[in-house]
Amino acid sequence: MNVRLLGLGEVPPKLAEAVLAGLPRPFSGGEIGRLAVSLERCYDRTRAQVDAACLIEQVPEPEPDWSALALTGVDLFMPALTYVFGVSHLGGRRGIVSWFRLHPEEEDADTQARFTRRITTEVVHELGHGMGLVHCVVPDCAMHRSLWPEGVDLKRPEYCPACLATLTSL
Ligand SMILES: [Zn+2]
Ligand SMILES: [Zn+2]
Repeated sequence: MNVRLLGLGEVPPKLAEAVLAGLPRPFSGGEIGRLAVSLERCYDRTRAQVDAACLIEQVPEPEPDWSALALTGVDLFMPALTYVFGVSHLGGRRGIVSWFRLHPEEEDADTQARFTRRITTEVVHELGHGMGLVHCVVPDCAMHRSLWPEGVDLKRPEYCPACLATLTSL
């Protein structure tokens, strides 16, 4: 399975490369591109956030054996939630991840590494949904649900054996 990582808006240098290089099995590589769409129609002025369900419709459908994921710094929401780290179409191999809420709160020598790890973990999470995985009870599995940025640190940017087995049997 290949991954097309599409930068939307300004993406920090080398971030997409680091995320792509950090993807676990069953992903075997991919490519980096740009998603040149207008955020205007998905922007909610009252909330000053971008509607994730609207934005995902602008991620182009990937060809077989590919997953497409938009990577962005805009603040995403879903109607019932204050914010989301990302969203995907279950089994549709399309998703979005935003790093807006994933910045570590404290600056130290590990800040950049922790930030990249959080983003990679949530990318692995949304790619998993895109492949048809649901949430997992294993605490350090990437498919475990995280509601807070600190919760993402408890996970690893890879799938537990059960989730990996499901993925490879799809
Ligand atoms: Zn999820
Ligand atoms: Zn799992």
